Amino acid sequence: MKKINIAIDGPSAAGKSTISKRLAKELNYVHLDTGAMYRCTALKVLQSNISLEDEKAICEMLKDTKIVITPDEKVFLDGVDVSKEIRTDEVSMVASNISQFENVREDLVHRQQEMAKDKGFIMDGRDIGTVVLKDAEVKIFLTASVEARALRRYNQNKNLGILDNDLEKIKKDIAQRDYQDTHREHSPLKQADDAVLVDSSDLSIDEVVETIMNIIKGKVSE
Ligand code: C5P
Repeated sequence: MKKINIAIDGPSAAGKSTISKRLAKELNYVHLDTGAMYRCTALKVLQSNISLEDEKAICEMLKDTKIVITPDEKVFLDGVDVSKEIRTDEVSMVASNISQFENVREDLVHRQQEMAKDKGFIMDGRDIGTVVLKDAEVKIFLTASVEARALRRYNQNKNLGILDNDLEKIKKDIAQRDYQDTHREHSPLKQADDAVLVDSSDLSIDEVVETIMNIIKGKVSE
């Protein structure tokens, strides 16, 4: 099968990372979770004295920031493994806040495009099909109801041992992030014209993987 690029976009906790990981394994592709890059930026802002409103200072900070995602999905921020720290509710919300800044996006999008210069990538995020990999051969818009997504994030937090885990709060936070991500001025979350919509509310992980694999096979054999 010839190598292509695959863009998976969708709202928070729709299962993009889980599904992308599975697809990458089956296809022997590289998975890049772009949300982890916004999360690293958010974590570093929280750890520093920089104001969440100060786009210029955040961009300056990014110039001196190294984000590495390893093939086994560990996330290193300036050489430190932050895989767990970037998954807290606080970091999630701040990531959504700072991702509204045009220049922050420009920096991270450039990094993502450099990484995926060759084919064989599955990239997940909010703007992959519309901005980062506009020419991706397969574009999926993966969504699910707020209720289904909140429950998944709750279970994920539980497995990660995150103590501050409250289903109602997660639901509220997801709805707020949905609003922010879809209403921001720069690269808002939206389905690309040529993306295929997959609603995973009532599907198991296996069923979603199978659905997307069929879409990929259809595209590759065209
Ligand atoms: O995907 P994840 O929930 O980890 O992303 C965290 C936040 O980063 C999102 O709420 C969104 O605001 C931002 N993000 C983005 N563009 C991407 C990936 C993530 O704006 N490509």
